[in-house]
Amino acid sequence: MATNADFAARRARAVPRGVGSATAVYAERALNAELWDIEGRRYIDFAAGIAVVNTGHRHPKVMAAVAKQSERFTHTAWQVAPYDVYVELAERLNEVAPFKGDAKTIFFTTGAEATENAVKIARAATRRSAVIAFTGGFHGRTLLASAMTGKVLPYKRGFGPMPSEIYHIPFPTGRDGNTLEASLKALNYLFAADVEPERVAAIILEPIQGEGGFHVASPELMKALREICDTHGILLIADEVQTGFARTGKLFAVEHSGVEPDLVTVAKALGGGFPISGVIGRAEIMDACEPGGLGGTYAGSPLACAAALAVLDVIKEENLVARAETLGQRLRSRVEAIAGKAGAVRIANVRGKGFMVGFDILDADGKPDGAEAKAVCARALEAGLILLTCGTQGEAIRVLAPLTIEDAIFEEGLNALERALNPKAPASAAETLKQSSELA
Ligand code: PMP
Repeated sequence: MATNADFAARRARAVPRGVGSATAVYAERALNAELWDIEGRRYIDFAAGIAVVNTGHRHPKVMAAVAKQSERFTHTAWQVAPYDVYVELAERLNEVAPFKGDAKTIFFTTGAEATENAVKIARAATRRSAVIAFTGGFHGRTLLASAMTGKVLPYKRGFGPMPSEIYHIPFPTGRDGNTLEASLKALNYLFAADVEPERVAAIILEPIQGEGGFHVASPELMKALREICDTHGILLIADEVQTGFARTGKLFAVEHSGVEPDLVTVAKALGGGFPISGVIGRAEIMDACEPGGLGGTYAGSPLACAAALAVLDVIKEENLVARAETLGQRLRSRVEAIAGKAGAVRIANVRGKGFMVGFDILDADGKPDGAEAKAVCARALEAGLILLTCGTQGEAIRVLAPLTIEDAIFEEGLNALERALNPKAPASAAETLKQSSELA
């Protein structure tokens, strides 16, 4: 039997180190919130392929929709012979777009393509060039997306020159003096020193920073940005690639703020495990580009469109928006209880919305502790739980389990999380082992 170690060795020879993996768990199969590796070990998945399988691994409805579509055709290229499922999916998303008025939607394949194309659309619509993004923001790894991503290492160093006319202002994380006032002041400095607002096509931000540490953009920030955009004719882009599709207790996270964006980028959870992304936007803006200026050979794959239509059905039928709230509350109260226990690692700033929840791991001096957060994930893996970090120093733990996770599996995952956060607590370890054997 091949082992994870065999593949790790082969991988080191065959695959460049520039693409990393959070674990050395080589997947064999997965179902809903569980994953088995090639050695037969079972894990509970609190990563969901980085917020992709919100509807669980291989949801039966999603798999059936893809199987049905694969009996018809798998690829024609939208640019050659367009197809119904693309149009239906665009219609469905236009109906639920988080802004009033007519919407149009175009599809791509990856999140980075969505953010890049949102910029192309914004530039064409405004006939302006500049884009403002936030420190700690993540918008993808293609070159323009890397430029918008607000973190040099590992995303920019060595890849320059970066596309021009991308500017960053501090995201108000509440840390290091990064308040809302400080961010808005920085924006004014930017307008005064580097770029006049009349040259700015768009401001892009994640309603909750994902990779950057699960920091929530406050309604006050969103409102202030909306006002600035309206004053200067700038478009507001909500990057919902990680926050989208019920994860935060709303279909789109931006809905928590009451602010309406002009463009919304979507990907990840939309396809329920099949690669698809898109830009949803106000109809008049979306029509700004010349025919042929947008698209891609695989953009809006019919298999992924069929999957996405099923995902939207599942979200509704299984009431996953409400489920995100319930799961998030259970997780928060558990983490807060663990934080109060003797022997637990130092936990602070439990935050997020719905079932997009993160928290910091601190060292004895109260400073963010990326090394300890990594150790927490390693201990979680030992206990059979796949868990990810985030944050600019890798200091935060994030939970992104499927919204369809069964109650018993969730409880088992929480017990493993407790063991990872409080390795000295024998009671929780025993509890976890008992629970696993009961469910085996
Ligand atoms: N935007 C956000 C907010 C993301 O979280 C990500 C992926 N983590 C991307 C864009 C890029 O998506 P992809 O990796 O599919 O290109």
